[in-house]
Amino acid sequence: MKNCAIVGINWGDEGKGRMVDLLTEKYDIVVRFQGGGNAGHTVVNEYGKFMLHLLPSGVFRKDVLNILGNGVALDPENLWLEMQEVIEKGVRITPENLKISDRASILLPWHRELDALEEQRLQEKKFGSTKQGIAPFYSDKFQKKTILAGELFYPEELKAHLMDLLEWKNLTLTKVYGAEPYTKEKLEMWMNAYCEKIKPFICDTTAVLEKAKKEGKGILFEAQLGSLRDLDYGIYPYTTSSNTTAAYIPIGSGLPSAEVSDVVGVVKAYSTCVGEGPFVCEMFGEEAIQLREAGFEYGAKTGRPRRVGPIDIVATKYGIKVQAATEIALTKLDVLSYMEKIPVCTHYMLGGKQTDEFPFPVALQEAKPVIEYFDGWKCDISGVRTWDDLPKQAKDYVSFIETAIGCPITYISVGPERDSIIIRK
Ligand code: GDP
Repeated sequence: MKNCAIVGINWGDEGKGRMVDLLTEKYDIVVRFQGGGNAGHTVVNEYGKFMLHLLPSGVFRKDVLNILGNGVALDPENLWLEMQEVIEKGVRITPENLKISDRASILLPWHRELDALEEQRLQEKKFGSTKQGIAPFYSDKFQKKTILAGELFYPEELKAHLMDLLEWKNLTLTKVYGAEPYTKEKLEMWMNAYCEKIKPFICDTTAVLEKAKKEGKGILFEAQLGSLRDLDYGIYPYTTSSNTTAAYIPIGSGLPSAEVSDVVGVVKAYSTCVGEGPFVCEMFGEEAIQLREAGFEYGAKTGRPRRVGPIDIVATKYGIKVQAATEIALTKLDVLSYMEKIPVCTHYMLGGKQTDEFPFPVALQEAKPVIEYFDGWKCDISGVRTWDDLPKQAKDYVSFIETAIGCPITYISVGPERDSIIIRK
């Protein structure tokens, strides 16, 4: 069976969670391969409405195995609390259907604290961190200053390793930020409260995935955030600290031989962006408020109002390129139903010239949007389930986007529920 990746094409929050929830029906395994609890995937299904931060969105399907790969920022505290919330609503989570890579690095309690201390130091120059400790975590991972989940099975060695890390980290906490040192007792309490809980789920997931591959099982790889937040290809430094692109799958999933033939890029029918950084197509004033309210655009993790704008063809084309997306899921088309005229950012003006090439991050600050308007359909489309039943104006809008981005739009979602979808293949 072919494997599939579901990835974000823009700034994140495109609706990946709902696409994973829909498509997992066809797959045996769902793997998260990067990122941590700093974003949220919203899933609405028969169990209720969920904001998943760390759990793969396949947990709701009875026969799906969910894996947290070695590329994720494994936050035992948030993971355990999230598991409890989901279990309380009647969802089964056991070591049979959730497995955590023994090679995933653990996000330690001081990572969150360091995130907050650094944002405080930056004051108005802050990056808009979600303060989940992601940047300090990945920095420490690359410095080899955190622990692997599998070390929990070696208590003696673990203790010595943690004491070394504690001594080192306290130098930064006290001497760089003037904060209180972290104590051995606090660390031990935290390890007992959370790491012990997730221990039964930890195993060699590479062996599990290799076996599954040999058996011809289908694997779905679930990404967090979007192309423009990728550490290498995004709008650096306003990126996240991991690779959000499908190219990272063989590394972060724990299946080095992973072949992903279908890369479903998720694009929202308009643009949203959380946090700081250049956002060329941004709308302001009443226009922005109306769109934000219509799409209920508030951060899943932080509740922050999202910045909004029209769909950005320049950024989307670039996002598709860096994800090497093979098809597109266009989400939240229903949200635009109130608009008389629908704006589309077709190009940027940069240095007096019109361009459809996404600029180097620094140059983005100078870019201005070129906007074209399309006729709105001005009616409720949330009950539409086939392409033919969409109003002509909606078809024209989608067809224009499809041609402009040069990638087939195979799914169009018209509501948050699992079945509020038009499938075009
Ligand atoms: P993710 O991080 O990419 O999964 O994105 P979010 O969790 O921010 O999901 C987008 C939000 O839009 C969630 O609240 C979804 O329930 C909602 N949503 C997803 N698809 C649709 C849609 O087609 N129409 C509407 N109205 N809402 C949707």
